[in-house]
Amino acid sequence: MAIERTLAIIKPDAVAAGHIGEIISMIEQAGLRILAMKMKRLSRREAEEFYAVHRAKPFYSSLVAFMTEGPVVLLALEGDNAIQRWREVMGKTNPAEAAEGTIRRRFGTNIERNAVHGSDSPETASFEVPFFFPTAELL
Ligand code: GDP
Repeated sequence: MAIERTLAIIKPDAVAAGHIGEIISMIEQAGLRILAMKMKRLSRREAEEFYAVHRAKPFYSSLVAFMTEGPVVLLALEGDNAIQRWREVMGKTNPAEAAEGTIRRRFGTNIERNAVHGSDSPETASFEVPFFFPTAELL
């Protein structure tokens, strides 16, 4: 299996609800190594650029408003098959459809307020990790 890097975000709903610690625990228990981590409030421009792929979607402006409503925790992760592994720990986009024990099932509220983000492919990860972390910050 290939060693991959992926971007994780603990979204504003999960930060506000006090789930940072439990989510980081689940990341570590999944065998994913944290290369870098920071907490910040995204600017409107950052959220718009980060989610530019969704610009044409009806939920785009609502998603940008949600992602900028409070601080997020950004993490660069590394491990065997890290992209898929992190997606499995997260669960499906809609918490109602996510498997028992996944982060989105445990902590998500609805299809938008779903607690966490994870890159969905190697191409996406290679855009998303450097979007927030210059190579020099990856330990
Ligand atoms: P992900 O890769 O599982 O995060 O899902 P997507 O890339 O399809 O969507 C990005 C984010 O947009 C999701 O994590 C949700 O926060 C939000 N989102 C996705 N689909 C919908 C939707 O149908 N309605 C709303 N309001 N938000 C959505």
